[in-house]
Amino acid sequence: MDVKEIREIIRKELVEGILQTQDFYVVGNWKMYKNKHEVISFLDKVISHDFKEKNHIVIIPPFSYLYLFEERLRYSKIEYGVQNLYPKDEGAYTGEISYRQALDFGARYAIVGHSERRNIFNEDNSLLSEKVSACIKNNIKPIFCIGEDLNKRQNNDYHDFLISQIREGLSLVSGKDLQRVIIAYEPIWAIGTGVNATPAQVEETHMFIRNFLIQEYGDETGKVIPILYGGSVKPANVLELALADGVSGFLIGGASLDADSFIEINNKLN
Ligand code: PEP
Repeated sequence: MDVKEIREIIRKELVEGILQTQDFYVVGNWKMYKNKHEVISFLDKVISHDFKEKNHIVIIPPFSYLYLFEERLRYSKIEYGVQNLYPKDEGAYTGEISYRQALDFGARYAIVGHSERRNIFNEDNSLLSEKVSACIKNNIKPIFCIGEDLNKRQNNDYHDFLISQIREGLSLVSGKDLQRVIIAYEPIWAIGTGVNATPAQVEETHMFIRNFLIQEYGDETGKVIPILYGGSVKPANVLELALADGVSGFLIGGASLDADSFIEINNKLN
């Protein structure tokens, strides 16, 4: 069976609802934005919103505001996480935050390998694989980011690159543990640029990643790992992107900073 045929089968299964990645994720990455006052007013606004039962609503604030999330979201459906973590329990790692410290504040997710960490802070797949593994061991869901730059996209040279990011990044995790990983496909050229990947590009790439996951890790695991899309998602484009085959949710930067826009995105997915 060639790749095209396999893809066709997956597409059919998806459409018929047989292929279940079940949960849908709406994740806001706040990066290094907001002050205390802004965090409180955002949380006051979203706390009473009636989010769709089935969707996971996750916000990833800067570390310094985790305590506000713990204080204010105790009875809320909204979950939260951290943007980065060091893969050691504790120790002389000035400037880093450990898994234990994140868990202490109720964080349940961690972004691993965001392109800003890879490119600005030189994090490589070897370090990232340790981070993914430490997340899994500590019961934190890693949102493992992958994505090509514009050059690779324009040269149609991104497939092998994405495969190597996944292979290397997940190399320390095996068996059923792999089912606890979330992948976020974030083409670098779409992050913070206002230019999102088209639904056709998202669909092609997500199906390619799904296909690879199934071939590499088998049906049981490959079919259930959620694949989120990230890159200039906003209220105006979220619905058409959600309709692309193989999208299990979104990782959203800029449009997650404003409570009204975050709520609008979620309303469109209801
Ligand atoms: C991100 O930072 O992960 C992201 C997708 O940002 P934006 O939505 O602003 O493109």
